[in-house]
Formats: sequence, C-alpha cells, structure tokens
Amino acid sequence: MDQQAIQSIVEEIVSRLTGASTGNRSIPMAVSARHCHLSKSDLEALFGEGYELTKKADLSQPGQFAANESITIVGPRGSIEKVRILGPARSMTQVEVSQTDSVKLGVKPPLRESGDIEGSAPITLVGPIGSLYKKEGLIIAQAHIHMAPDDALSFGVGNGEYVKVEVDGARPVTLGKVLIRVSPRYKLEMHVDTDEANAGFITGKTTGKLVKYEENKLAGNAESFESFVGNPKEMVPPAPKKVSNLKKKKLLTQRDVQDCQEEQIVVDPSTIITPLARDTARELGKSIRIF
Ligand SMILES: [Zn+2]
Repeated sequence: MDQQAIQSIVEEIVSRLTGASTGNRSIPMAVSARHCHLSKSDLEALFGEGYELTKKADLSQPGQFAANESITIVGPRGSIEKVRILGPARSMTQVEVSQTDSVKLGVKPPLRESGDIEGSAPITLVGPIGSLYKKEGLIIAQAHIHMAPDDALSFGVGNGEYVKVEVDGARPVTLGKVLIRVSPRYKLEMHVDTDEANAGFITGKTTGKLVKYEENKLAGNAESFESFVGNPKEMVPPAPKKVSNLKKKKLLTQRDVQDCQEEQIVVDPSTIITPLARDTARELGKSIRIF
C-alpha cells in the first residue's frame, strides 16, 4: 500500500469519527415565520440615519440573526404588524410572507428562491421614522434545504437541484420541488414557511426524508444515466454526461479522481471517499454520485 493510500485512509477515519459522511441521514426542519431583510438605505429610511439593527437571537445559519426591530407591511387589502427583521443588512430589501399572509394583504407574490426578487410583488413598509413603497421585493419563499458540500455529496444531490421531502408526523405530507442550496457556510436544515408547517404539523423538532425525483436517479448501471437539466417541458434530452463507474471500489482516493477521464464518478454507498478525493473532484469540476 503506498503512502498516499495510507494517508487517505487515516483522513477518512478521522472524518468518520468527527461525524462527516454518515450517508442516509434525516433532515432537520425549521419553520420560517414571515420576515424581511432590509438594505442599509431602506433600514435608514424606516428607522433613521445611521441606524443599526440590534440582535435578539442568532439563527441556525451562521452569521444570520433575528433583530429586535420589526416593521409593519401594508398591501391594498390589509396590513400585518410586527414583521421581524432578519440581519445583517443585505444589498436588496426582500419581504417573505406565506400565501395566507398574501391573501390578507391583497397581493399576489410569486413563489421564489430567496434573493430572486426581480418582477416580484410590490409592498409598502412602515417603520417608526418613515415608510417606503417598494415596487418589488415581496415573495413567498420556496421550501429549500441548506447544506454544506459534504452533505450534498452524501445525499448525492447538487446545488439548484429539486428534490421531494417526506415528512412523517401526525399528518404526513410530502413536499415537492424543494430546492437544494449548497454552500460551505450552510448547516444542514430544511426551511419551510408557516403554511407548509401548518399543513404537515411541522415544528422545529420535525425531520424529513430526502427523496430524489425519478429522472435524477441512476437506473441500473452508470452507462444508462442521463441527467435532465433545464426545462423538462422542452423534452430535449441533453447529451449524457460521461460517467465513470467506480462502484466496485472500496476506497476512492485522490489518485482515482485524478486518473479518471470522466466528469462524473459513480461509487457505491459503501465506498469510502477520502476527503482529499472530494476536494480534488471539486477542484477538477467532477461530481461524485453515490448510488
Ligand atoms: Zn433558508
């Protein structure tokens, strides 16, 4: 056994001991109540020049916090008071409400990924010092799962992919079109809004099970794999990705990744993937799928 293989195994044992790559885990869920993110200039327009948010509580995603401050949001049919502001300040103001809230406000916000507010619904914001009419910025946030790159590898999913999540509780529900969001800054957690939570009796203690859509699954052997990207309605099958089937390997090392000519490497759930192999795959733009 060469030096590199020994190093890889040592790294893998360390990573298992520290809890990484544990495979088929359940996903902790959190319920996002209505809230808003404000730009610095909008914060100042509502609360006064030079105003800084004060922290009430840290949120589960690192760096994010719930502020003590809240605002009132106003639509053509009604208003909602005490809408919590989440910090820190962002480049764009964004208000996230539930479908139930939007009926009360008399607005029709689109279902969107956080940050995608172009052409979204208008909303009026009222603070202690002033008020603002925003032409866009009101959305219903799409259910999503935050995860780190290692989680994405162990679940066999990629950033931007949609999955289903089965929630087993007093009233079991399956949520579809749940967006995967991958960043090294993220901690594994699914976010749903209050309507979704109420429908499925979901609380902060609930967990969900990730289920991949059929077309994303690898059927049988690696050669038959085709990934569908873009609009499935167009029915134009993309060129199949070149896949390297390394399912027989017990250990996937950095060298295996470097040696393989294909952009996608398929391994068995029992295959040990060394951290160096993962890093190298990331650097070379290759994806590792576990089936
Ligand atoms: Zn979120």
